[in-house]
Amino acid sequence: MTNPNIIKMSKLYAPTLKEDPADAEIASHRLLLRAGFIRKTASGVYTFLPLGQKVLSKVENIVREEMDAIGAQEIMMPALQPAELWHESGRWSAYGPELMRLNDRHDHEFCLGPTHEELIVALVRNELRSYKELPVSLYQIQVKFRDEIRPRFGLLRSREFMMKDAYSFNESYESMQKTYDDMSEAYGKICDRAGLDYRPVEADGGQIGGSVTCEFMALAEAGEAELVHCTCGYAANTEAGECIAHPTVYDVPFEKIATPGVHTIAELAEFLDIPESSTVKALSGKNDEGKLVVLFVPGDHEVNEIKAARAAGGFELLCDEEMESYGLHKGSMGPVGLPESAYVIADRSLEAVPQWVVGANEDGYHYVGARLGVDFTVDQWEDLSVVRPGDSCPKCGLALEGARGIEVAQVFQLGDKYSKAMGATFMDEDGKEQPFIMGCYGVGVSRTVAAIVEQHNDEFGIAWPMSVAPAHVCVIPLTVGDDQVQPAAEKLADDLAKMGFEVAIDDRSERAGVKFADADLIGWPIQIIVGKRGLAEGKVEVKRRSTGERIDIALATLEEAFAFAKRNAKGRAFEANLLQGLFS
Ligand code: ATP
Ligand code: MG
Repeated sequence: MTNPNIIKMSKLYAPTLKEDPADAEIASHRLLLRAGFIRKTASGVYTFLPLGQKVLSKVENIVREEMDAIGAQEIMMPALQPAELWHESGRWSAYGPELMRLNDRHDHEFCLGPTHEELIVALVRNELRSYKELPVSLYQIQVKFRDEIRPRFGLLRSREFMMKDAYSFNESYESMQKTYDDMSEAYGKICDRAGLDYRPVEADGGQIGGSVTCEFMALAEAGEAELVHCTCGYAANTEAGECIAHPTVYDVPFEKIATPGVHTIAELAEFLDIPESSTVKALSGKNDEGKLVVLFVPGDHEVNEIKAARAAGGFELLCDEEMESYGLHKGSMGPVGLPESAYVIADRSLEAVPQWVVGANEDGYHYVGARLGVDFTVDQWEDLSVVRPGDSCPKCGLALEGARGIEVAQVFQLGDKYSKAMGATFMDEDGKEQPFIMGCYGVGVSRTVAAIVEQHNDEFGIAWPMSVAPAHVCVIPLTVGDDQVQPAAEKLADDLAKMGFEVAIDDRSERAGVKFADADLIGWPIQIIVGKRGLAEGKVEVKRRSTGERIDIALATLEEAFAFAKRNAKGRAFEANLLQGLFS
């Protein structure tokens, strides 16, 4: 057997671990370490071993194909970025401690790129000159650095990781919208091809800025993001999603009641024996001008501080001393008897609630039946709450469901934020200088590898979708050195490799049990078990990793099924074809 493309387990550098690594809390982290795909170098810094590198480059290639398909062009920018560019965009100070900064020997400041808007704007600003050359989309697949406050979960949140980042330069918002839509569609295809169950969700712009943005979330319990989604297809990150809450009315006369020891909404609801949705939660802060702002949301919801900042012109929580100076009490804030200077913003769902259960701005007291418009007023109604399961879908009105997700990718409409700040302009049709309208689009390539494992694993190990598996099949000769079994297994591996399949062979002189366990742990989608007894009848056993199905199949039929699948389909369709050919 001479084909160098066949992975020989006897030679493969894939040290497996018997025990679960102590600090690995989630399946992907645990299994990628145990099965010998990655090794930790430092906190949030990983080495990809041969199997890990194979999967990583498969995901990269899927991304590359989909980017090329929409006309984006691959480049490679340096990871090392001069500080001057970041000063120009204003992000040298805005980015904070997550930016990995360093000085060269001449004491010039640099950073290791967490993202590349600055670099790419500097790249094109003097050379992309005319509207005739637009739109242009450039991308790279490259290592990124972010000094995350809590690197964890292995490849999910690391400090050095692989990202595909693309940037589009357009002459208008309409043109950028078109690129954004193409990118979004390509991202959907990437997720599909990588075997991910995902949702595109409404999201918040965060550090990168821009207003219109969408995150691609792989659904997984291990995900750090909370989502709401609906059968109609709507989905949102709870950080950003519109909230349509349903507060309930506690219909009693206006009265101040003693509530000794009651400080939280839970305690208040229990004390009055009413649902939390019948109470109103308060939060005090100041806006960018230093003005006192008091916010109210239904008691069963939380204030969304991003929405609060948008509504109030900045929002920073008051510290205890500041609260005291306004005569406010943490556990009993309410709209009745607030200081004159307070500006009151309430969640719009409360506009329909005529009587509120609220704090009395006096420790140990609350009001019930406080009348909106009589006992207190509200200056502004806004969507202020963090959306949660059970709220109404803003698209169709049905009750939203909750889920957790891993953000594998995000698309942003940047507009002229960077091109304006950095003076990147082109000549429009009328000969006028205009700033580029930009979009940026990122896929977490290494995070995607982990997300795939989160969705494709069981108690025995990983079950890779064929599209990203380190190889399509692993041929497992049960007895190495046997004068029939070994040559038959090698010939089969060779034949499949010649047909264009990616093949591994477990040619180690290990017990069958060890080989089976390792094959399940590593997660080859298809195992072909070659044993003496089967061979006598011209048969091998085929196991499908994802379902555990096993069949005995004649060697000739097996090769036919592989050849048929290869001839007739590509990508995921090929996988479906092959499995159907084998297992039905
Ligand atoms: P997060 O909110 O998870 O920190 P982000 O929104 O800051 O991520 P982006 O700036 O949108 O990340 O980066 C594009 C993609 O890079 C993300 O969608 C994600 O898949 C990936 N990514 C970001 N941070 C990390 C990280 N620390 N480790 C691995 N992948 C990451
Ligand atoms: Mg993001």
